[in-house]
Amino acid sequence: MFGGEILDFEIRPNPAPVSVAERAALVANPGFGKIFTDHMATVRYSEGKGWYDARIEARAPIAMDPATATLHYAQEIFEGMKAYRTADGGIALFRPEANARRFRSSAHRMAMAQLPERLFLESLRHLITMDRAWVPDDPEGSLYLRPFMYASEVFLGVRPSLEYLYLVIASPVGPYFKGGVRPVTVWVSEEYTRAALGGTGEAKCGGNYAASLSAQAEAIEHGCDQVVFLDAAGRGHVEELGGMNVFFVYDDGTLVTPSLTGTILPGITRDSVITLAREFGHQVVERDYGFAEWREDAASGRLREVFACGTAAVITPIGSVRCADGEFTIGDGACGAVTEHLRTTLVDIQRGRIADTHGWVRTVA
Ligand SMILES: *Cc1c(COP(=O)(O)O)cnc(C)c1O
Repeated sequence: MFGGEILDFEIRPNPAPVSVAERAALVANPGFGKIFTDHMATVRYSEGKGWYDARIEARAPIAMDPATATLHYAQEIFEGMKAYRTADGGIALFRPEANARRFRSSAHRMAMAQLPERLFLESLRHLITMDRAWVPDDPEGSLYLRPFMYASEVFLGVRPSLEYLYLVIASPVGPYFKGGVRPVTVWVSEEYTRAALGGTGEAKCGGNYAASLSAQAEAIEHGCDQVVFLDAAGRGHVEELGGMNVFFVYDDGTLVTPSLTGTILPGITRDSVITLAREFGHQVVERDYGFAEWREDAASGRLREVFACGTAAVITPIGSVRCADGEFTIGDGACGAVTEHLRTTLVDIQRGRIADTHGWVRTVA
């Protein structure tokens, strides 16, 4: 079977799934990324043979030779998405085609085999169907899906791997903010950067996260929740958080977000926010955004709201900002009206509570 063709998934149900009672107890208080469903999807690739052995099987450890290429040179990419129980009782994904496309572009940047988008979508559909009992009933909960792929060739030479293993695992998650949305405090890292022009900033690869962890640890040391990265070239412009894009809301209703120059991850939530904000009548400007501008406009009061966005938390208000030589507050430090409106609209579309006029929601099971 080759790239563009349909590959049938072989379904091998887990012979020893978690009991109904134990599953209910786990799903009732899942936390984030700690508990996993009974199954996983796997598809293999090898040069010459193409994609083969598509399966849904019992979730289990992967045996790995110590010379497996990904352990040495980090050829690895991933995606993050959520399956929701919708108002009509179905299970839906939000813009999964966009994740499938981004997975291919990440693979391209990392010199990896590009999984056909149809295969990506089928792997999710099959896994969600098998593990549908794991999707929380909680109106704030969801089943987090983690598609990923790594270089599986056993070889220490430095070149793109000739073999890849693609997998999808799934993890029930509770509300991102327990007890309601809370504005976060961010740390602006003036020492570490995340991505440089020509680098891998726009690919969703594990390596970008590895590069962000020291800065994130520094943010925690300074009592902050998340780190904000500046551009690597001049450290004058705001790029994004470790795993979320960022928007600035002005008193004239304009939204500003850093433009996609290759160093920023093109978020699907970011793209959806731009579309919704324009429909609400806001002007949305994609451009370079200076850290100095951020401080000055927060001080003058022209800057009213700032929020971060991504699949995990959807939209997170940013209440205050800390850096090496000071701290400032955005507005009154609470979640602003524009942030709240965008957040509830997006969440309501995702969960089928309001009409999906964009064709973003895909019922999969
Ligand atoms: C995944 C990710 C985002 C958010 O993307 P979504 O598609 O909205 O989930 C933003 N920044 C980085 C660095 C990411 O890895």
